[in-house]
Parts: sequence; C-alpha cells; structure tokens
Amino acid sequence: MKVLLAEDSRSNQMLISAYIEDFGHQVVIVEDGKAAVEAFKLDRPDLILMDVSMPVMDGITATKKIRTLCSDSRDWIPIIFLSALANSKDIAKGIDAGGDDYLSKPVDAIVLNAKLTAMARIADMRQQLDAANRKLTLMSSKDGLTGLYNRRHFDEVMEKELKIARRVKTPVGLIMCDIDHFKLYNDHYGHQGGDDCLKAVANALKETVKRPGDLVARYGGEEFVIVLPETDMAGVARVAELVREAVESLAIPHADSTASEYVTLSLGIDIMSGDIANMDEAVRCLIESADLGLYEAKKQGRNQVCAVSIAE
Ligand code: GH3
Ligand code: MG
Ligand code: MG
Ligand code: MG
Repeated sequence: MKVLLAEDSRSNQMLISAYIEDFGHQVVIVEDGKAAVEAFKLDRPDLILMDVSMPVMDGITATKKIRTLCSDSRDWIPIIFLSALANSKDIAKGIDAGGDDYLSKPVDAIVLNAKLTAMARIADMRQQLDAANRKLTLMSSKDGLTGLYNRRHFDEVMEKELKIARRVKTPVGLIMCDIDHFKLYNDHYGHQGGDDCLKAVANALKETVKRPGDLVARYGGEEFVIVLPETDMAGVARVAELVREAVESLAIPHADSTASEYVTLSLGIDIMSGDIANMDEAVRCLIESADLGLYEAKKQGRNQVCAVSIAE
C-alpha cells in the first residue's frame, strides 16, 4: 500500500513513517494540508494519515478538498485522522469532513497496523463493488442472447443522436430489420436452432456496420435496429443493402421460407433531417417511418430494402 502521511511534527513523521515501513508499506510524507491535496492528485496514494492541526492548511480543510476531488468513486481512498489524545471535537470534525477513522497521538504501532489493515480491506471491497456496478451498468445496456445493445440503450442513443442532429443540422438514418419467416424457422429447426440463428444474424450486422458512432441493437425478438448518425438517405440505403447481403450470404438454410432457401432479412429505412421540433415526436416518427418501410418490404416479397416516407 502507498500511504500518504500529512504531519507537521518531525518527531511524529519519523516515528509513524518508520512504523508504516516496518509493516511493509510505502510512505510519502508532506508537512501541511495543501501539500497533502497536491500529493493526493499526483501520487495517488491508497490511504492518507492526516494530522488535524498543521500550518498553511489544516487537515480538516485538506480532507474536504480531497473529497471534492473524488467525484468518481474510483478515486475514493480512506483517510485516517491523527489527533491529540482526547480531542473529541477534532475527531468529530474530521469524520464530518469526510474522514473515515482516527488515531490518537502518540500513535500505538499495533493499533496503527490494525487500522491500516481494516481500511485496506474496506478500500478493496469498495473497489470490487465499483467493478461489479460498472459491469452491471454495461450488462443492463446489452442483450443477453446476441451481445448487441438492447432496446433500452437504443432509446437512449436515439434521443442523444437526434439532439446532436438538431444542433449540427445533419441527418440521422435508421434501419429496422426483421428476419423473414422466423416463426417457421423456429418451428422447423427448434428454439435452440432459432437462438443460434439470431446470434449469427446479429454478428453479421455487427460486422457490416462498422463506423464509429453507428449503433446496432436488438429491438425485440427477431427485430434489429441500426442507427446511422450523419448519414443521408443514399448512405442509409447502401448500408441497408450491405446488411441484407451479409445476412443472405451467411447461407443459413431455411427450408420453409418463401423468400429464399436461406435465412434473410427485410429492411425498412428512413432518415430524420436536422429540422426537429419535438424530440419525442421525432423519435416516434422515425421509428414509425422505418417500420412502414419494413412492412412494405415484407409485402413486396421479403429479403429486400424499402423506404416509405410518412411525409409523402
Ligand atoms: P415475417 O417474415 O413476416 O417477419 O414472419 P415471422 O415469422 O418472422 O414473424 P412473426 O412476428 O410472426 O414471428 C416472429 C417469431 O420470432 C416468433 C418467435 O417464435 C420468434 N422469436 C422471437 N424471439 C425469439 C428468440 O429470442 N429466440 C427464438 N428462438 N425465437 C424467437
Ligand atoms: Mg500537527
Ligand atoms: Mg417481427
Ligand atoms: Mg420476422
């Protein structure tokens, strides 16, 4: 562990730092609160031992400053106050300022070691919790079966992209894709076969749509959506056709499809230009319009791309 010791008394510095090193930790010494804040930023210690009364900046003020720098919970580290024996007011103030524990001076080696151990344990648990939380956040935006982004994430991105489009006046493209006769596929190849097919199609979509900023998501059962920022209608049509070809060329046999001997996609496309007044309305409109295109593609015989603009 790297311990930052903020203490103005030379004798305490020597004594405490010797203990810390004896316990196998590294120690960085500073003599006032201001230097402690700087050292926190530069040295990224794992724990701070903070004297309460120091020149230039006291330990309470320094702790408050350090806590305001911990906006990301990953930056959090334990702070143990050092206070003169029986100064209960200092202890209360220290904890209020964001400290986690205290040690009375003169410091007892065994108590110091015990507290370092306890604090390291808490810091470790906190890190594990943070990591688990980050993983959960990520998982809640992904679809479990295909690994694509899910509907929830799509909704968020869509709104964000339309806001950007409104600001910079560029179009946003949307492709709605639906696997043709997927019910029949399930009936013929079984549910597990259907799941494998969904994964393969999802993968083909991901492989085809590669521009940074593009988003491929699973919209529902066998439906996928693709958001293409800064893309005009010709561009969206081109990407949609590439996606259609990519899925067809997977050549996954589909014995009961009327569209092809293989698994295929029908796709509906549209764009939303930068002229957006009502955000909710815009999102709804774009989805509805791409969906109409999809419906048209189904009607025309499936395995194709169609566009039907609501405005027309
Ligand atoms: P169309 O060509 O008109 O789109 O016909 P379709 O059969 O694909 O459309 P429909 O909406 O009637 O059926 C969709 C089927 O997709 C229903 C369901 O059996 C299947 N499905 C939806 N989600 C999953 C899934 O997660 N796994 C599997 N295996 N099948 C799914
Ligand atoms: Mg002091
Ligand atoms: Mg469907
Ligand atoms: Mg379908």
